[in-house]
Amino acid sequence: MTPSAGPVYTERVNTVAIRAEGLEKRFGGTPALTGVDLSVEAGELVALLGPSGSGKTTLLRIVAGLERPTAGHVYFGGEDATYVPVQARRVGFVFQSYALFKHLDVAGNIAYGLKVRPRHLRPSRADIRRRVSELLDLVQLGGLERRFPSQLSGGQRQRVALARALAVDPKVLLLDEPFGALDAQVRRDLRRWLRDLHDRTGHTTLFVTHDQDEALELSDRVAILDRGRIEQIGTPDDVYDRPATAFVAGFIGEAVRLPVEVVAGAVKIGPHTLPTRTGTTSGAAALFVRPRDLVPSDARHGLPTRVTGLRRAGPARRAELLIAEGLPTIEIELPPDLSVTRGELLHVQFRTLRLFPA
Ligand code: ATP
Repeated sequence: MTPSAGPVYTERVNTVAIRAEGLEKRFGGTPALTGVDLSVEAGELVALLGPSGSGKTTLLRIVAGLERPTAGHVYFGGEDATYVPVQARRVGFVFQSYALFKHLDVAGNIAYGLKVRPRHLRPSRADIRRRVSELLDLVQLGGLERRFPSQLSGGQRQRVALARALAVDPKVLLLDEPFGALDAQVRRDLRRWLRDLHDRTGHTTLFVTHDQDEALELSDRVAILDRGRIEQIGTPDDVYDRPATAFVAGFIGEAVRLPVEVVAGAVKIGPHTLPTRTGTTSGAAALFVRPRDLVPSDARHGLPTRVTGLRRAGPARRAELLIAEGLPTIEIELPPDLSVTRGELLHVQFRTLRLFPA
């Protein structure tokens, strides 16, 4: 599966911007969404990222028309779509579970949405055949049109699901953990493939995931949700490098939260003190530390830590470090030429201090 292969998609897409304003959703007494505002530009790919139960799927289902908001509005382009029924919204969906029709072959699945249209809106048989063949090429499944879903791999099924969603020329594309059930390597391949597909078709796309690598790699912007609210929306660089809230700082990038005290321009971590230039805040604070925030240093300039563990994380080697008893251990990504042993004293410096008031 080579992401750049395949013909250029020929049809002009009539995709629109999505805007959600003041969305609230309650299930019984429990709020699932609170005051959600979200703008997705025409042609943009935005990921909804957040922990389990943060409201991602609820937001997507409201945009889709599968769920009514308790308050607020959804606009497609200039049109208020809040009360437009799902069938009339022209949205393309792909969900985690493949949900292909088992009794239809690949071509039949892709053509389904066109074939069930009322007669006066239904394309001719020849047009449907042409469309299916174009979509098969687009999702790189040419030659598999007579296979049944049970004869496809998980990744191939999801590509059929995407072709089926695109067949009806949707105004927007809504994807809910579409690669959630697949193994890691297939997920990574499909991620690049989807980004490439999106660049060629240009559908406004909302994509739910709880996998931050997927969100950061795939999207133009990422909306981070927690407990039914959008905590931050920004480019992958924005949310990664400039987290707006303590929640985002802790959620993105495998950060460990250290309780610290800010006093007179210094950060007190356990028994140690680090000078800081970060502004005027003082009092109890949270310092968020990622493995790449730390660099080994000499004893004079560094903070002394104890190496409590060593492990591999993909291509990187990591050491677990204890600053003081009672604090959570933090991790450092070790430079390739540095060898350390468990129990050793290692001095470290912070490249960056991500501090938020506690
Ligand atoms: P996950 O990543 O686990 O799918 P999510 O971020 O998509 O989670 P939602 O499925 O949107 O979260 O759920 C948000 C909140 O709303 C949760 O507390 C959930 O229990 C609740 N909820 C969602 N759907 C319903 C429902 N039909 N009835 C009652 N509560 C619901």
